[in-house]
Amino acid sequence: MKQQDGMMWALVKDKADVGLTMKRVPIPKVGTNDVKIKILKTAICGTDVHIWQWNKWAQHTIDIGRVVGHEYVGVIEEAGPGARGFKPGDFVSGEGHITCGKCRNCKEGHKENCRNAEGVGVNRDGAFAEYLVIPYVNVWPCSPDIPQEMYAIFDPFGNATHTALSYNVLGEDVLITGAGPIGCMAAAIVRFAGARHVVVTDFNPYRLDMAKKLGATTVVDLNHEKLEDVMNRIGMEEGFDVGLEMSGSATALNQMIHDMKHGGNIALLGLQDPDTPVDLETVIFNGLNLKGIYGRKVWDTWYKMTTMLQAGLDIAPIITHHFDIRDYKKGFEAMISGQSGKVILDWTHLYDEGETK
Ligand SMILES: [Zn+2]
Repeated sequence: MKQQDGMMWALVKDKADVGLTMKRVPIPKVGTNDVKIKILKTAICGTDVHIWQWNKWAQHTIDIGRVVGHEYVGVIEEAGPGARGFKPGDFVSGEGHITCGKCRNCKEGHKENCRNAEGVGVNRDGAFAEYLVIPYVNVWPCSPDIPQEMYAIFDPFGNATHTALSYNVLGEDVLITGAGPIGCMAAAIVRFAGARHVVVTDFNPYRLDMAKKLGATTVVDLNHEKLEDVMNRIGMEEGFDVGLEMSGSATALNQMIHDMKHGGNIALLGLQDPDTPVDLETVIFNGLNLKGIYGRKVWDTWYKMTTMLQAGLDIAPIITHHFDIRDYKKGFEAMISGQSGKVILDWTHLYDEGETK
């Protein structure tokens, strides 16, 4: 089959069941204000795993036939006439929330709180494909002094950055509940930003090791240790100044609420169930601040990610696996096993070996 047929390879949610299917779909059309990005590398998100597993959220969110994926780096192949500042050959990544530009928050420059945001690879076709078309206002240029592969994880790195930089952490004690890739990257960021104790809790020893590699000063394996015992051991008396909840576990959230200093600040990224019981009595009596985090600030977060990497922040160890896209099933297996950090899928061999020609 020839590319001139207007078709491309893509990973598609092809049926209402577990898994994804590699199949031919039409190459998306480029509008006036769009760019067409040839995808080089993608990374698998927890969201993609939910879509793969076809959980409840996926069932009521994802349309059958959807091209999934939203973490990527690529090269612009075509730029619409309105796509100012971008041209073919530019290496880019992109913000995965397509915002409306019309609501109050968009107009005031708070796109992260757009009330009409659409997710790439969720509500519209995504990046696990040979080509992705998005509005040029969602495109972020790669800097030549940052390894290109890092841009494939700028989306989750951005979640980590947005959460980690929600509050001032200089000289503060930070608790991170959940040592998934975003929790581990957040550990690296708050340490880089000058936190004193960076304590990460989880039940998964592999991920706790990863947190340690990324910059946690203390990790707590909740199978064997109590957080309070560890706090005593490291000489913490008044509780954590900042809490970053990354696990989505109600138990973790309530433990965090109990172990904060009075007046402490909590940022919530891990997705909790709508009916999660929360100890609001303690929140009120201890004067805690709780803040929900969604996505990334555009472009504040992207700018900070770029400049922190240029200033020496090292999050490279979070990438633990590489697979050719033709082995995408192995990539999803690695993610689902819990024995991985970020998993990169490389699309370039698809072009090298003429599979698309
Ligand atoms: Zn909006």
